[in-house]
Parts: sequence; structure tokens; C-alpha cells
Amino acid sequence: MKAEIIAVGTEILTGQIVNTNAQFLSEKLAGIGVDVYFQTAVGDNEQRLLSVLEIAQKRSDLVILTGGLGPTEDDLTKQTLARFLGRDLVFEASAVEKLDAFFAERPPSARTPNNERQAQIIAGSTPLQNHTGLAVGGLIQVEGVTYVVLPGPPSELKPMVVKELLPLLDQGEQLYSRVLRFFGIGESRLVTILADLIDQQTDPTLAPYAKVGEVTLRLSTKSKTHALAQEKLNQLEQKILANEEVAACLYGYGEENSLLQVTVELLKERKLTITAAESLTAGLFQANLADQAGISQIFKGGFVTYSLEEKSKMLGIPKEDLEKHGVVSAFTAEKMAEQARKLTDSTLGVSLTGVAGPDSLEGHPPGTVFIGLSSSKARQAYLVSARGRSRQDIRQIAVLHALNLVRKTLLNADDLV
Ligand code: ATP
Ligand code: MG
Repeated sequence: MKAEIIAVGTEILTGQIVNTNAQFLSEKLAGIGVDVYFQTAVGDNEQRLLSVLEIAQKRSDLVILTGGLGPTEDDLTKQTLARFLGRDLVFEASAVEKLDAFFAERPPSARTPNNERQAQIIAGSTPLQNHTGLAVGGLIQVEGVTYVVLPGPPSELKPMVVKELLPLLDQGEQLYSRVLRFFGIGESRLVTILADLIDQQTDPTLAPYAKVGEVTLRLSTKSKTHALAQEKLNQLEQKILANEEVAACLYGYGEENSLLQVTVELLKERKLTITAAESLTAGLFQANLADQAGISQIFKGGFVTYSLEEKSKMLGIPKEDLEKHGVVSAFTAEKMAEQARKLTDSTLGVSLTGVAGPDSLEGHPPGTVFIGLSSSKARQAYLVSARGRSRQDIRQIAVLHALNLVRKTLLNADDLV
């Protein structure tokens, strides 16, 4: 079902009020599996509202109008919709009763013809009772399109939506989602590989989202039961992971489980300690670790060794060796990782040395990064590339690569640990 929300009110267009009704409705409709495709705002003007209805009628199955059900001259939503549908307005019995009760305690002069309008609905509508006000809402189906009118004040709209409207619209379906997290593959590459699946998508839907260095895929489906939804999501996930390149880059699931969290959890589970010696990232890797609660179980401390002199002095690597191999080299990365590990007596030592830019270093272009990994069993260096990226991105991507290497090492327990 394609839904559209039309907020009526000049105050919205002039910026005097924020259209919170649309936000509330969108969230509630998503909760029962109704897709909102459009949100429109239009002033208190009959002609313009008619033109918006003309468009909505063609592209939506459910058209919800908010605002303009009150007694004043500018409140013309119901009248305009009635005209659009070629129907009359009729009095709704329980709304009239409410009006009678309200005015019974007031002088007869207070009850003006304007006030009467609040008790009217479009002929053929299902009334939606107003639990906190006088203006009655309504729902009507005409030529396959469902139209709903709701009052503007949120204090009236919200209870009407929750108590009256949603039970009528709820087909018993709920939205279920699964988020797959990838590292080491770009969004464009992932989308190219999965082009067929993305093109064919209807249910479940498949939406990629890219952040610096990471890509996520959100699989969503509407179902009546959890089990049915999981089955549909499993099937799509299997199709996605049938591609080996894609499967190799999957590192986790869920909205919140970042590469950092996944890696730190693995270290905690295995009760291993980690340290780092950082050059181009100057402590960013360690600062990332420290973002995680309870990190002291696995991280005792580490090194920021930016210059060649400090790499030599703090880590005890002979200056001549650094000069001979260069600071941006596999040798230096391995040595830094090993010395950091030994000096802090940690299980794993990580190092990051490379070129953040904008200038080249030792003939290497910006984005060239060596990551060292050391354990009591072995030491290795990996060359990764983040060329063509900004200085900030290069440093962040370098940290993500380091985390990913640690994660992969821990999964292949025999490699290093
Ligand atoms: P009333 O009987 O109060 O006139 P109404 O149904 O005619 O109600 P409007 O006149 O359009 O509704 O708006 C009344 C008040 O409701 C606005 O001044 C505003 O405070 C609030 N309101 C209207 N539309 C919205 C909206 N889309 N989002 C949030 N608040 C709204
Ligand atoms: Mg009004």
C-alpha cells in the first residue's frame, strides 16, 4: 500500500509550525507495514488543495489529510475533499451529541453555524472519533483510494491515529529488517555485483548504505509472523552471500555492531590483550579502542611515534634500520608492532605507518599504509591503499583496516595467536 500524507496549513509553509504530524504518522504507519511514499504540505487554499488531491489520487492508495477540521473560515479540508469526491457533508450522530454536551454549559450565542461543521463527515465515511476535541475525523474509500481526514492539533491527532485509524488500517503485518555489514568492498562494487538482485527487489527490499570505509545492506520485509519474515530474509541473504567476494567481506550483522565493536568483542571473548604503535594515525586506533566500555580488560597502553627519531627512541628500533628500509615500509611496520607488543607485554601488537598526505613521503603517494601485526608466534605486515582520499579519510580507513586485520587474525586462530 502506497501512502501519502498531506498536511494542510499555511502556518507550515510559512515556517511558523513544524509538520510533526507527518513525522508521527509516518512512524506509526511504518510500524504496521504501510509505506509512506510522499509527504506534502499545502496552504489553506481550496484550489491548491484540489490540485494536490488530483496528484495524490493518481499515485497513492492511501491519502491522509491533516489539519483544517476546525470551525474557522480557513478550515476547509473536509469541504474541499467532499467537493473533490463529489459528495455531500452530513452530520455524524455521536459528534453532534458531543457538540450538544459541549454547548449545553455555554450561552446559546456561542453555538455558531461554524461550530456545527466540526460534527460533519463526508457522506459514506467511517467516522474517526475525536477523544480530545470536537472535530470528528473520517475515512472513506472511493475508486480504490482510501482518504482519511484528521484534525491538526497533535493532541487530537495522535489519539485518533492510535485508537481509531491504525486498527482500521492494520493488516496484521509488521516490518522486519536485517542489516548486513561489509568491510573491504566499496558501495559501487557491491551494487554492481548485486545489480540483478537489486533490480528484481520487491519483497524483501534491499538498500545499500555507505559510510567511510564501510558498507551496509538493509534487507526489509513485511510479514504477519517473525518466522515467515526470517525465512524470506534468510533466502535473500543466501543469494547475496552466494558471491564469494561479497561473502568474504561480510563482518557482522545489525545496526549497531561496528567493526570496532565486533573486533573488541572478539578480543574480550578470547581474553587477549592488544597494543599499538601508530605513526600516521597518531593514536586514532587507540582512541577508537578506548571508545568502547570495558576496554581496560584488553588494552594496557601503547605508543604514538610520529617522527623517525621517536620510532627509534620509544620503540628501540635502530635508527640505521629505519633509514635503510624507510618509515613507510613492511619492515618498519613489523618492527613497530613487535616492539610495541614486547614493551607492553601484550598478546597482539598492531602498527600503522604510512602517508596521510597531502604530500608524498619516501616516494609513496598519500594513502599508502603499512599495517603490522605481531604475536609471540609470528609477525606480518600488510600493505593497504586508500589513495585518492582526504587526509582525514585516509587515517580513518587505515584504522578500519587495522581493526579488520586483527579481527581476521582472531578468526583464523592458528595464524598468529
Ligand atoms: P483547530 O480546531 O484547532 O482549528 P484544525 O484541525 O482546524 O484544528 P489547524 O487549524 O490546521 O487544525 O491547526 C491547528 C493547530 O494544530 C495549529 O496551529 C498547530 O498548532 C497544530 N498543527 C496543525 N497542523 C500541524 C502539523 N502538520 N504538525 C504539527 N502541528 C500541527
Ligand atoms: Mg483550524
